[in-house]
Amino acid sequence: MRYLRALKSGVMFRTHTNGELRLEHVGISVTLAGWVQRARNMGGMTFIDLRDRYGITQLGFNIEKNQDLCEQARKLGREFVIQIEGEVIERESKNKQLPTGEIEIEVKALTVLNSSEVPPFTIEDETDGGEEIRMKYRYLDLRRTPLRKNLELRHQLAIETRKFLDGLKFMEIETPYLIKSTPEGARDFVVPSRMNEGQFYALPQSPQTFKQLLMISGYDRYFQVVRCFRDEDLRADRQPEFTQIDCEMAFVEQEDILNTFEGLVRHLFTSVKGIDLPAFQRMTYAEAMERFGSDKPDLRFGMEFVEMNEVCQNQGFQVFDDAELVVGICAEGGGEFTRKQLDAMTDFVKRPQVGAKGLIYCKVNEDGSFKSSVDKFFDQEKLAAWAAKTGAKAGDILLLLAGDVHAARKQMNELRLYVGDLLGLRTKDVYAPMWVVDFPLLEWDEGTQRFYAMHHPFTSPKPEHMALLDSDPASVNANAYDMVINGVELGGGSIRIHDQALQAKMFKILGFSDEEAQKQFGFLMSAFRYGAPPHGGIAFGFDRLAAMFGGTDSIRDYIAFPKNNSGRDLMIDSPSTISQEQLKELHLKVQLES
Ligand code: ASP
Repeated sequence: MRYLRALKSGVMFRTHTNGELRLEHVGISVTLAGWVQRARNMGGMTFIDLRDRYGITQLGFNIEKNQDLCEQARKLGREFVIQIEGEVIERESKNKQLPTGEIEIEVKALTVLNSSEVPPFTIEDETDGGEEIRMKYRYLDLRRTPLRKNLELRHQLAIETRKFLDGLKFMEIETPYLIKSTPEGARDFVVPSRMNEGQFYALPQSPQTFKQLLMISGYDRYFQVVRCFRDEDLRADRQPEFTQIDCEMAFVEQEDILNTFEGLVRHLFTSVKGIDLPAFQRMTYAEAMERFGSDKPDLRFGMEFVEMNEVCQNQGFQVFDDAELVVGICAEGGGEFTRKQLDAMTDFVKRPQVGAKGLIYCKVNEDGSFKSSVDKFFDQEKLAAWAAKTGAKAGDILLLLAGDVHAARKQMNELRLYVGDLLGLRTKDVYAPMWVVDFPLLEWDEGTQRFYAMHHPFTSPKPEHMALLDSDPASVNANAYDMVINGVELGGGSIRIHDQALQAKMFKILGFSDEEAQKQFGFLMSAFRYGAPPHGGIAFGFDRLAAMFGGTDSIRDYIAFPKNNSGRDLMIDSPSTISQEQLKELHLKVQLES
């Protein structure tokens, strides 16, 4: 603002922004500039809403006072860029919704700085433009207040992150984008090298190896707000390029990292949202799976899993008897669910994405009797045992699934979230933060018959499990952790291996030959020979963090120029083909499969 006023002495486009003028400014002369959002003609008056990034100010043109000017104003189209001079006056009919709604400008002079074609959709809070057209004209969509607010929020989060970490002596250091594969479990985007025929760079899936090298270089607190690239199939909360708050620390243990970054997230919530987060719960991976069937449980509500084998099996109901696990949840107040709701719930769990064969329920009636979907097999006494096991009371409903342990838990997790939504238990302004710790180090893949790193290959096994690496690798836990808020994984990291021999062993367990490990990660292995300090770190999904702060699920709304679900940028029309010449320069031949 001060800067804008300083311009007064020189060339001056505006003395104030369109979000700035209030009653206290009445009587002063101002110059404003901006876009014509809309014009209204009312008898002898023409009103224009003038918009810029800061807000909207109403301009008034009076036909009796200045006919020429008023006629000029009536010719202005939507999104024309104009500059006006005038006097701030008090409005007759005030608009309480608008911060500048108590004043308007009596315009004395008008300059058209640029005209505009009629925009393809209305550029107001509520727009008539569909998703696709708004993506194509993203630069126009970004003029709308809701998107502008999203980007402001993102900016604030970035600034507060930097402030907080700088305060703790973290250094922001940039790492390269043209690199070599980093194993984060996704496909790489690759870039052909013109100068090195037949060779390719990979874009980083994360700066993982570089931040570890920085620890070896002695920069013991590093962070970077950094773009990462992963060639994955897209969903609403995924983008092929996305931003992380990437962090690493040396001379730390897991506890130091958890405390430091709990501090960061707390700081973001207080400084940006004015919210004091409740205590972060800690839960092991095993416990999270057992109690909620998920490694990112939504702790805003209970409905914990109850293992029901004991009260359900050996009573002649085949579905239960054949199952490895009968798992139940008690939905408080769910006795009210209608037949239709229960049918929809059953359809939900039977969808291929969820994969259950069916859903069994038991309502506890107001008089304490039971009504279940399996009354044929279970009498009132047996159903009373179900209720006792789960603590169900009158007005509640029990929902049961059965199958092998892994599948039944996964399905019940989906159902729990579904019912949580149905009962309105997943409220936006309640935050339940937690750490999930003690992840397994490895994951066995049946398809390829080999182990994969659950986090990444640089993650350290728990020291007390080291001996199991040879005898029973599947049972080894890692010093790895995720921060989860409201069922959303906001960040994850681990304490790293800093010993060359252990890292070599890890690559072996993961099925790399010595040669492959050397070829892909030789630089890191060599670096470990020159005094690698103990270190560990974490990375947060920055777009996702912004979306959570904004109260939505879609990260796209928090990225200025995002891609659509097929990974396309509809505005610049990318990806696209390149010329034969470029292909030749890059030593590439494109052969399309027909
Ligand atoms: N590089 C990891 C990731 O992108 C985070 C970390 O381990 O620090 O998930």
